[in-house]
Amino acid sequence: MAKIRVLGSGREVGRAAILVEDGRGRGLLLDYGVNFDDQDNPIFPGHVRPRDLDGVVLTHSHLDHVGAAPSLFISVMPPLYGTPLTLDVSRLLLYDMIKLNGPMLPFDEYSVDEMLAKATSISYGEEVNTGSFTFKLLDSGHIPGSASVLVEVDGSRILYTSDVNNIYTKLVAPAKLEGVEAETVIIESTYGDSNHPPRRETEERFYQSVREVVEAGGTVLVPAFSVSRGQEVMAILAERGFEYPVWVDGMIRQVTELYLAHPRYIYRPSLLESAIIDFRMVRGWQDRRRAYKKPGVIIASSGMIKGGPSLYYLKKMATNERNAVFLVSYQAPGTNGRQIIERGTYGEEEIPVKARVEWFDLSSHIDQNGIIEVLRGIRGVERVVLVHGDPQAQEALSTRIREELGLDVETPGSGDFIEA
Ligand SMILES: [Zn+2]
Ligand SMILES: [Zn+2]
Repeated sequence: MAKIRVLGSGREVGRAAILVEDGRGRGLLLDYGVNFDDQDNPIFPGHVRPRDLDGVVLTHSHLDHVGAAPSLFISVMPPLYGTPLTLDVSRLLLYDMIKLNGPMLPFDEYSVDEMLAKATSISYGEEVNTGSFTFKLLDSGHIPGSASVLVEVDGSRILYTSDVNNIYTKLVAPAKLEGVEAETVIIESTYGDSNHPPRRETEERFYQSVREVVEAGGTVLVPAFSVSRGQEVMAILAERGFEYPVWVDGMIRQVTELYLAHPRYIYRPSLLESAIIDFRMVRGWQDRRRAYKKPGVIIASSGMIKGGPSLYYLKKMATNERNAVFLVSYQAPGTNGRQIIERGTYGEEEIPVKARVEWFDLSSHIDQNGIIEVLRGIRGVERVVLVHGDPQAQEALSTRIREELGLDVETPGSGDFIEA
């Protein structure tokens, strides 16, 4: 009898770590990510003995899915799997995390290199056998290269969607989960209690707002995560032939180059190709000092303005009311991004932001209606396990799944296990 052990992401967003165990206690680990506390220290998922693992699968390159993985590869080397793009981008992000949090981590760059040197890149749909587990990756539509995992063990079929989305964005097409057969579905519930506005409308409103500011002589700062959201914004501007200067600063550029090296994982690679030619890449302080002085757009990490070039630009741009700060992702409590939205200030000194501030929902996570739709498309489902969501989101979603689909729903906490 197989077991599902939730080592992280139980009734919380992020820190994804799902261990599937066979009857003999051997495991296949799906993700091993971190969250960060208020002081920005990483919080690890529950412990697992690497020597008990027949494999580790990384579903995508966000740190809340890969940030703890190198700690499993210190003394033994369980087989590691992921799409080639996930593996490449993970290296970049893990290096960056080590640069910022090095002393707090039980691994270093060397462990990351060791881990990735022996990794096996696999494509969507390719069947892998390891120990008593058979699994394959399916396109999850979340970010380029992201995957859901369908696992078969001891006669049970378990689908772990990981982070998933079911709409067309500029970077990815919807998840390809329709028709998959699984009795147990472990699905994310980040937006289990809400629905996003239509994507196309948000993109259009974002573009028109950008034009308004720039045509009135201002500069728009778009703080964006370096993995996927930054490229999404580049693609939205490129698609409409935006004719003013666009600067790209921070790790966004390196990730874009990796995306272009794996174009088959990008829905519309031509948009990024033209963006990387037409837009200006900030290559040092000289560029950085120039970028905000003329009307245009600056896309810079980090996405919540906790640090990085976006904080530098904010300090330079916030006092001019002709400028704008357009936020395009979730802003966690305690970050400058959240403070700007809630109180119109940044920093402990509560420095006022006179620039125009707006928030745009360009989420890469599926919403409540989307989750119902995806679950309807999967065949033979008996039970749904909600992870990667806050309790209130899970509660609203559980009720809807039970009422509309008549399925069992479980919401295990981190540390809990379920018989599959
Ligand atoms: Zn996640
Ligand atoms: Zn993610």
